[in-house]
Amino acid sequence: MSCIFCRIVDGDLPSRTVYESSEALAFLDANPLTKGHTLVVPKDHYETVGDLPPEAAGAVFEAVSAVTPRVEAAVDADATTVAVNNGEAAGQEVPHTHVHVVPRFEGDGNGPIHRLFSARPSLSDAELDDIAAAIRDVEV
Ligand code: 5GP
Ligand code: ZN
Repeated sequence: MSCIFCRIVDGDLPSRTVYESSEALAFLDANPLTKGHTLVVPKDHYETVGDLPPEAAGAVFEAVSAVTPRVEAAVDADATTVAVNNGEAAGQEVPHTHVHVVPRFEGDGNGPIHRLFSARPSLSDAELDDIAAAIRDVEV
């Protein structure tokens, strides 16, 4: 099996596990963005958020909700950025869904997720209506 996060879940690769439930696992990121940077993964292999069945999606967010205050307390963080790089074009490097829980500190200068996006589109009300309708109408 080549997926590194599946191998971590299976215990074939070492990890600094910080939280575990029946369907989710949380462990420290090997290359932390800040101290305490933690990853939360479903134990089963799903590549992207949209691939998660409802039980796994629930289990992952339950684990995120449980682990985030623990991470904040452990490293005395003021906040956390909780984020997913969902798909290769969004920067996902490990193709096993994972939620980043990144501790944040007053004045750390790293900014909000909004800072990732330099050129915002200017959309009319009609265009926004069309986009909302298009999203509603997709059959999955
Ligand atoms: P992505 O870019 O896919 O959202 O993030 C992948 C994350 O996984 C990166 O932050 C990277 O540091 C982390 N990572 C990659 N390989 C390993 C590993 O073998 N062990 C752990 N604990 N983290 C890893
Ligand atoms: Zn996997």
